Amino acid sequence: MPYAGRTNAVHSALKALGWARLLVVAVVLVLGCARIEPPYCIKVIDGDTLDVWTGEKIERIRLIGVDTPETKDPRRKVQRFGKESSTFLRKTIKGKTLRLERVEKDAYTRTLAFVYLPDGRCVNDLIVKEGYGYAFVKYPFPGIERLKAFEAEAREAKKGLWRDFAYERFYAGNLSSRVFHRPSCVYAKRLDQDKRIVFETRKRALELGFAPCGSCRP
Ligand SMILES: [Zn+2]
Repeated sequence: MPYAGRTNAVHSALKALGWARLLVVAVVLVLGCARIEPPYCIKVIDGDTLDVWTGEKIERIRLIGVDTPETKDPRRKVQRFGKESSTFLRKTIKGKTLRLERVEKDAYTRTLAFVYLPDGRCVNDLIVKEGYGYAFVKYPFPGIERLKAFEAEAREAKKGLWRDFAYERFYAGNLSSRVFHRPSCVYAKRLDQDKRIVFETRKRALELGFAPCGSCRP
């Protein structure tokens, strides 16, 4: 049985290789961890939230001015593109020392911050630029105009979540809240006739100072 001997030899060689590989992986991990200076990410919660080890404590960071599709809200189904957004954030910041520019705390005591990569790029900007999230303009923050412009560019270039984004034939605005919707939105359907205004394009609604609905994302 010549093959038996050979198989055994191959088997033990593989076994030895297995241990060697494990050792290499362990060494790389230890060295790798030692090399990253805090603050660095220890966990990505979703596309716009992460846990950071500051060197002293774990701090939950919510990227300011950015909103990505939900992946974790138990009341909602995973929104389209939620997973892609989390993956993008994870890949972008993995193994890097981050610079945090803390702006304020939100109602959930998360730190609202801009996060910067070692090469100086702003992660908040990248997410919106590459179409992995929206500019979150409900509350004012420094840099709001910059993020709005990045969103318009990403939408124009059909990047990321704008790739197969459907444009509507018209949009319905609410004259009292100054918010506009897709015609299929529940809020558009509930709109009283005397409060309703119709826009032919999204651009027109924005020009007249109407804000896009946070639910139907027109
Ligand atoms: Zn709506």
